[in-house]
Amino acid sequence: MSVEQAAGVDGVALEVWIDQALCTGDGICAQYAPEVFELDIDGLAYVKGADEELLQVEGATTPVPLPLLTDVVDSAKECPGECIHVRRVSDKVEVFGPDAE
Ligand code: SF4
Repeated sequence: MSVEQAAGVDGVALEVWIDQALCTGDGICAQYAPEVFELDIDGLAYVKGADEELLQVEGATTPVPLPLLTDVVDSAKECPGECIHVRRVSDKVEVFGPDAE
């Protein structure tokens, strides 16, 4: 699926989460989209919430802002741990990441 298809003409809402169990801590995601991803002191990447706090509950998701969609998708594609999952909010179907069709 292309980024354009995922975003859709009707602006499908997407969210992203990280499986920290597979994160290598290289920081690629935080370089690509620092507004969304950040490394914590434990050396693993987490998604950030609305007020920039790191969401450390397992499987925590954060919305993907449309202007950052390409950066988030590139992060998922480049992630060496294959642990960044981007999915539709409406039906939780993964559109980018290791479990995307
Ligand atoms: S790109 Fe993937 S493996 Fe690397 S820090 Fe981010 S989530 Fe972890």
